[in-house]
Amino acid sequence: MRLLLIEDDIRLAPELRRSLKRVGYAVDWIENGIDGELQASIEPYDIIILDLGLPGRSGLDVLQNWRKDGVHTPVIILTARDSWHERVDGLKAGADDYLGKPFHTEELLARIDALIRRHQTTEPSTLISGELKLDESKQSVICADGKIEQLTAMEYRLLRYLLYHPDRVLSKSHLTDHLYEEDGDRDSNVIEVYVNRLRQKIGKARIETRRGQGYIYISHPTV
Ligand code: CA
Repeated sequence: MRLLLIEDDIRLAPELRRSLKRVGYAVDWIENGIDGELQASIEPYDIIILDLGLPGRSGLDVLQNWRKDGVHTPVIILTARDSWHERVDGLKAGADDYLGKPFHTEELLARIDALIRRHQTTEPSTLISGELKLDESKQSVICADGKIEQLTAMEYRLLRYLLYHPDRVLSKSHLTDHLYEEDGDRDSNVIEVYVNRLRQKIGKARIETRRGQGYIYISHPTV
């Protein structure tokens, strides 16, 4: 999952970025409203964390412009504590959720997860049925037979994305767009390497290749 963080607090933002990366998000961080607005309109994000008090352009204006221009990425706004009118204005402008500052990082993570779940077109059935289960704290996967496999950060990100988008063809470039940060290594051939490593860990039948199209995560393999 790829996340855009727009926040000008230079103490809070790097800390949030670290926490978000630890649980498997690819995070791009931008410090002002103007660049932040542009960034979300040119790059595909799965979720955006938007501070409302930003230099350059206010978070509220940024959000209104996105919604007007057809950018419908889920947005959580960060508001000043006790500022109920900010929350109301933000929700009216098209925010999906809000969090008053200061907050616990765990609460933000929980809200991000809930929002992403709400926005998925398909439920991550494998996560629910327990057939294949991700352990976020240990960055590992528990397989159907109970075997626990340790994953690297990139394997974890990829598997998490696949689990949330099961039984659907995902092209290499789509996966690259959603798994890498902007300044990261974006060679889409690398995806192939990670897919093969995941197959060794979770079973070959789980990820099918569609030649010339991409990969499908099979939620209920028949073999
Ligand atoms: Ca601010």
